[in-house]
Amino acid sequence: MSAFRTRFAPSPTYYLHLGHAASALQVWRRASEAGGEVLLRIEDIDTTRCRPEYTTAIYEDLAWLGLSWPEPVRVQSEHFSDFRAVVEALTRRGLTYRCFRTRTELAKMSDPLRPGPHPLDEEEKLLSSGVPFARRLSLSACEDALGDAWNALSFQERTAEGLVTRMADPAREGDIVLARKDSPSAYHVAATHDDALQGITEVIRGEDLIDAPHVQTLLQALMGWSAPVYEHHPLILDETGHKLSKRQQSISLASLRADGMTANQVRSRLGFS
Ligand code: GLU
Repeated sequence: MSAFRTRFAPSPTYYLHLGHAASALQVWRRASEAGGEVLLRIEDIDTTRCRPEYTTAIYEDLAWLGLSWPEPVRVQSEHFSDFRAVVEALTRRGLTYRCFRTRTELAKMSDPLRPGPHPLDEEEKLLSSGVPFARRLSLSACEDALGDAWNALSFQERTAEGLVTRMADPAREGDIVLARKDSPSAYHVAATHDDALQGITEVIRGEDLIDAPHVQTLLQALMGWSAPVYEHHPLILDETGHKLSKRQQSISLASLRADGMTANQVRSRLGFS
């Protein structure tokens, strides 16, 4: 097994844009410098937004950029049972609760990040009337379960200054959603599970996910999973200073290619020539 193993894990909710290209090129560059390897992982658990044609386009765009990866690629939508098993294991340990609240109801609460379980009689009524629910991780239950280890939670981040140990603050995102009303898994469970399963030693991703290790470290501690080193790269901004986003339908790599741009031109525009 390679000593340095990282991954590129796009979500196929739209076509990849220049920001994805920059991220992918950075991940492959870091792996090549370290003599390691990059796995490609398709994070398509949001079945309402992900589409197979975007997955196909990911393979095409990355290959066009000259990047390669070992097969088979892990496609998360083929592994919902793995993620469901994690949520069930945490539930059996009394670490989760059902949340039937809508976004509007949550916004009206005094602590929307830690809404807590519903009173039992209310929960029974909601359950029997078939109201869908999300499953949240109860931070107070996790704190009790981990005891002293709760205050010692930490992770390693590779920065320009070298490897830094950071104390984790798993409460910053509140009682995180583990499973959604319409999906057996939410992002943190699937990504952290797969990083451990795939033996990922370095997670290299954009600064938009700089807070994610705080939560993912807690999941690793609860589940006994291995912890990678985290590294964050700056995001590519558009001319208005906003981050490029698939949702804003930023110019896709596919359309740049169709307009005659070459992969080398993309690389040099992004500083990877
Ligand atoms: N699937 C996530 C995205 O496309 C990336 C998650 C990760 O790298 O952990 O934004």
